[in-house]
Formats: sequence, structure tokens, C-alpha cells
Amino acid sequence: MALRLDCPMDNCHASIEAATEDELMEQVSAHAEERHPDVELDDDFVSSIKAQIIEV
Ligand SMILES: [Zn+2]
Repeated sequence: MALRLDCPMDNCHASIEAATEDELMEQVSAHAEERHPDVELDDDFVSSIKAQIIEV
């Protein structure tokens, strides 16, 4: 089992996968820093991201 998140940003089709939610959120942070440096990962945004995580 793995967890997957399709990046919610407009015009970004990145798909991020990891074994655990912690790992996934680390990768999301790294991805956001690299690709979406103007996006702030505040609590609301993190919650909305977590709601979009799916099991694959
Ligand atoms: Zn992205």
C-alpha cells in the first residue's frame, strides 16, 4: 500500500507517492519549495492537502 497525492496547484500535474503520511508530507514540502516557492504551507493548506491523499 502506498499513499498518493496529486499536486493541487493549477497547471501542476505532479503526482507524489510515499509509504506513510509523514513521508508524503515531507515530499510535498520539498516539491512545494522547488516548484511553488510562493505557496505557504500553512495549517489550512496542509489540512486540505491531507484530505486529498488517496491510497493506491
Ligand atoms: Zn506541484
